[in-house]
Amino acid sequence: MFKHSDALIFEDSLIRLRHDLHREPELGLDLPLTQRKVLDALDGLPLEITRGKRLSSVTAVLRGGRPGPAVLLRGDMDALPVHEDSGVPYGSEVPGRMHACGHDLHTAALVGAARLLAARRDELEGDVVLMFQPGEEGMGGAALMIEEGVLDAAGSRVVAAYALHVTSTLLPTGFAAVRPGPMLAASDAVTVRVCGSGGHGSSPHSAKDPVPAVCEMVTALQTMVTRTVDVFDPAVVTVGSLHAGSAGNVIPEHAEFEATVRSFSVETQARVRAGIERTVRGVAAAHGVDAEIDYRENYPVTVNDPGEAAFALRTARELLGADHAFEAPRPLTGAEDFSFVLREVPGAYLGIGACPPDRDPATAPMNHSPRAVFDDRAVLDAAVLLADLAARRLRGTTEERP
Ligand SMILES: [Zn+2]
Ligand SMILES: [Zn+2]
Repeated sequence: MFKHSDALIFEDSLIRLRHDLHREPELGLDLPLTQRKVLDALDGLPLEITRGKRLSSVTAVLRGGRPGPAVLLRGDMDALPVHEDSGVPYGSEVPGRMHACGHDLHTAALVGAARLLAARRDELEGDVVLMFQPGEEGMGGAALMIEEGVLDAAGSRVVAAYALHVTSTLLPTGFAAVRPGPMLAASDAVTVRVCGSGGHGSSPHSAKDPVPAVCEMVTALQTMVTRTVDVFDPAVVTVGSLHAGSAGNVIPEHAEFEATVRSFSVETQARVRAGIERTVRGVAAAHGVDAEIDYRENYPVTVNDPGEAAFALRTARELLGADHAFEAPRPLTGAEDFSFVLREVPGAYLGIGACPPDRDPATAPMNHSPRAVFDDRAVLDAAVLLADLAARRLRGTTEERP
């Protein structure tokens, strides 16, 4: 329904918007400047706009000219606590903050999709909910927007939802990848605090040393993963932080470590959670120390509906070229809070290339790097792809229905 040429008239203003967002990155759930820029960019379009209560989200509903169901398009808007070192002329003007994950492109692209869809509003066979979301980077902004009613913003539950993510590496601009089933991992966090009994380093028999206990726990957790998790439904447990003690000749009272857990199915997620609890408690018992376990399930697995993923792949191939969109061979171990949306309604989450032409996708710094650079031209790809997914899904002809 849409072509690249439809969006060319918006290209300059969308790239300007992207650069404005990039210069003033904001973190977390409260993005007042970003929200203002989005509202200004949407001004004049025939949208029903509401703002979030507990976060600075923007929900905009576009009513189609013909009756039909509603679909949702999502763009996340938050930046990262990274000090930019990318060298781009529109670099961050806020020390220690950077749009290092490319969410500035997602925001500008969703504005672009709104303009494209508004221009063909009369042809739309239903409504489009535009979900401008803060707090993707660890804050679960999508879950809060669901609680505030974004899935029902058009008056009925959306029948499908789509989002995409740019990548500064792996894929050059103009390419897209999607797959049915798990697309991204579930991400959990665990903190373990081991309580022993401190004492003199020369007399461990009169203390309960938590240090060898945590050392054994860390290695035992790696063995637990390899011995209990199916290699074809894998998991990652990484202990990234480990702290104990203050001096070489003092046995400390406590030791603590933190880990991240990644998995691709609820079965493996539950198995690993149980395995961590069993392993930590067992090792603690062997050492005669106590262990407190704080396990937090942060983001669920991002699961693409098979029919929606196939539909998204067809759409991407028509827009970008048959050899420029492909089925991703495996999921990525990153995580994404669009998973909360896809838990409620069928949909698809795509990856699209934004590696600039003067960089090698194999070696270019990846998302979250202070040196990551995202190609401006990906804004147009993303805008047209989002608009086309919505319009085609609403068209309701059998060949468009997933
Ligand atoms: Zn990120
Ligand atoms: Zn991201």
